[in-house]
Amino acid sequence: MVNIKELTKNTLFQLKNENIETTPENYFVEFKKQSYALNVEIEEIEIFEKIKKSLTNEEKQNKIESFKDLSIVLAKRTSKEELKKLIFCFEQMLTPSADFNFIEEIENFIIEILKTPQNITSDESINKLKEISQRRIDSDRKVLKDKTDDIVKLTSLMSRYFDKTLSDGENSTEEIMKIKDELINLNISNSSHRELKIVQKKLIDTIYKIENSLKQNKQIITDNKEKFDYLNKQIEELQNELNLVKEEHQIDFLTGILNRRGYNQEVEKMEKKFSIFNGDYAVVFYDIDHFKDINDKYGHNCGDAVLKSFAGILKNLTRKEDIIARYGGEEFIALINYQDEIEVERYVKRVKKALSNSNFIYKEANIKLKFSAGVTYRNKYTSFPEAKKRADELLYEAKHKGRNRIILDNGVEI
Ligand code: GH3
Ligand code: MG
Ligand code: MG
Repeated sequence: MVNIKELTKNTLFQLKNENIETTPENYFVEFKKQSYALNVEIEEIEIFEKIKKSLTNEEKQNKIESFKDLSIVLAKRTSKEELKKLIFCFEQMLTPSADFNFIEEIENFIIEILKTPQNITSDESINKLKEISQRRIDSDRKVLKDKTDDIVKLTSLMSRYFDKTLSDGENSTEEIMKIKDELINLNISNSSHRELKIVQKKLIDTIYKIENSLKQNKQIITDNKEKFDYLNKQIEELQNELNLVKEEHQIDFLTGILNRRGYNQEVEKMEKKFSIFNGDYAVVFYDIDHFKDINDKYGHNCGDAVLKSFAGILKNLTRKEDIIARYGGEEFIALINYQDEIEVERYVKRVKKALSNSNFIYKEANIKLKFSAGVTYRNKYTSFPEAKKRADELLYEAKHKGRNRIILDNGVEI
């Protein structure tokens, strides 16, 4: 207290001394000086200094000695024009991004606040600002959701429509009509009314167009059905004939067993079975002994008949899953499946026995037929051609050894 008294005294003295009027303003400025001089802490002065410190650098350029100076600077800060700038910023921030129905209310609020910009900081304005911005966010969100839902509705209906029209036949008409009705009556939310109504109309037009062209196509199909059926039947017949030709292509004309072409195809199948399922099989190469003599002695026709009979015997002794083919001339080849090697030996023995028991009668001639053969087990060779080549060599060996014999690649001779 003493200090305040002393300060007051000093202040008044100084003002008088300097011939300065004792206005509150002058008094404060001098009082402040005196307080600094005496190093006395005065609350008002501290507040003054604190506000002064918080000014911007630009504001600090001004002479600030008193609260009056401060208020001039601060008043500039919240000048009407500054506030208006701020309000225009608010307007931009509040402008909706999706729900434009809302824009009028926002504009009205901004017009109102622009009349008295200072009111922007009132509780009422701030609350209104908060409320509008929240509502704006919510309604934008809702509109966005509505629009997305509408688009999903439209596209899913359209895809159902196209699926039906493209995949179904005549029975789909009813279903298509149903989907079309759904599309026409589709409840599009108010949010997307403007844009999606246009899309909806375009889609409906498209559906009508598609429907018309479908009807026309159906008519064309019905008109041509008879012709179409006839053509189909012809194609079927051609297919059958082709199959027959194909079959004949693979069968030897004279003997009725597989020819070389047919045999090649069967080899492929056998090889597949062999490599995938380890289906073991043996290759048997047959060649009739001295066949040329038969031709020479009894004529070519007799030779043909003998070939036919020989093939018949081979065919009878060969199981369904085995292959017998005419390799060429009086040479035959057999592919025999087996579990045990001995089965193959038994098979060639049976052939030999069947042949020795047969007499080939042609006109007056009674012919005894003999043959030689080479046999290999496929699994002993790296490829089918190797196995076949070896069977051929063994056949040659059999001929060389005097014919009427079968030589197997395991050394067995029959
Ligand atoms: P080898 O014991 O060495 O086998 O003597 P081969 O006479 O049986 O053998 P070669 O190869 O010398 O003669 C085969 C004959 O088979 C010659 C050919 O005229 C005859 N031939 C080939 N195809 C046919 C045919 O379709 N019909 C008739 N009739 N003969 C054929
Ligand atoms: Mg021959
Ligand atoms: Mg021969």
